[in-house]
Amino acid sequence: MTPPKTPKDTLRPEILEFTPYSPGLSIDEIKERFKLPGVIKLASNENPLGASPLVQRVLARRAETAFRYPQSGNPKLVAAIAAHHGVPASCVVPGNGSDEIIDLLLRVKARPGLDNVVAFDPCFSIYRLQAKLCGVELRQTRLGPDFSFPFQALLDLCDDNTALVFVTNPDNPSGHAVRAAELTYLAKALPPRALLVVDEAYVEFAQPEEEYSVMSRLGSLPNVVVLRTFSKLYGLAGLRLGFGVMPEWLADLLLRVRLPFSVNLLAEAAGIAALEDLHFRQATLETVRVGRDWLTSELTRLGCVVAPSQANFLLFTPPAPAKAVFEALLSKGVIIRPLASYGLPDSLRVSIGSEPENKAFIKAFEEALAPGEAGASGA
Ligand SMILES: *Cc1c(COP(=O)(O)O)cnc(C)c1O
Repeated sequence: MTPPKTPKDTLRPEILEFTPYSPGLSIDEIKERFKLPGVIKLASNENPLGASPLVQRVLARRAETAFRYPQSGNPKLVAAIAAHHGVPASCVVPGNGSDEIIDLLLRVKARPGLDNVVAFDPCFSIYRLQAKLCGVELRQTRLGPDFSFPFQALLDLCDDNTALVFVTNPDNPSGHAVRAAELTYLAKALPPRALLVVDEAYVEFAQPEEEYSVMSRLGSLPNVVVLRTFSKLYGLAGLRLGFGVMPEWLADLLLRVRLPFSVNLLAEAAGIAALEDLHFRQATLETVRVGRDWLTSELTRLGCVVAPSQANFLLFTPPAPAKAVFEALLSKGVIIRPLASYGLPDSLRVSIGSEPENKAFIKAFEEALAPGEAGASGA
């Protein structure tokens, strides 16, 4: 036996290829770097109105219970989610963000070294990262040039060992969305072992939501899983809460292998309160819809090509090099998202903010483009 050269050689080889997850720059980092008094972050599709005041009150009141373990399986939260969406409680699996449900589905469904999972390129990075961690092959096909979903190409990648097919609808980072009917056709065309995972992180922002979401059709779709999150519309990104709705037999198995307390006591209380705060949700939807239209017309006026979006963000191609625009915005205290890591080096993604944030972003963007100034065109 030859001994390992370094301690790392004793690990699974796929582990060594990981680099740290890059979540976008933080407000504090940018304040510090450019000595700015205030910074606007429109980089992670967080809620433009912050956290619901009702949720904040519930969190303050429940702080004293933090010494307790949560109830196993989070039954109160599951019941509230099931009632809200009109689905059986036995089909709901809550998780530490929908990221946890993606991870669980991969680990429960895909056999390492044997099975494959299929997604579009670009796709949400967690599908790729967790597949790699599980030792499962990821097969991808490029999105259309207008970010449309070439479903036949996706089907062509599937075979008898396809465990999961991921579709994000509306998509991130483009905001493109397809009607639910198209997804039901796709589900019916998949090979028998494959499950279709429809990631609906942004579906509430699509108009009209009912025509885009497959949630109400799950009863007749035995091979479909829907993912939802409390991170965007519900404004709870920092508390980590999401869920999957899936066939009962699968939900039962996910709950058996899930770490028992992955959804913590305060996240559970916040989630229940957030479902009750209809006013906050309506205000968020209104802010996003108005802001999305306004930013689309302003960016277009400034020479950008803006992808039509059904989500709470916009993908656009600026009339100057994207990297330079991104850097110029940073120096003015506005953080948005470069898309080079998605294979889209000429494009940028901006989250829809509050009205003052959107205005500040456009002002900084205009300055960044203005000739003669130390902006993007000079870089
Ligand atoms: C933001 C986002 C999620 C949500 O992730 P959480 O773990 O629930 O915060 C899921 N899928 C996509 C495509 C997203 O952009």
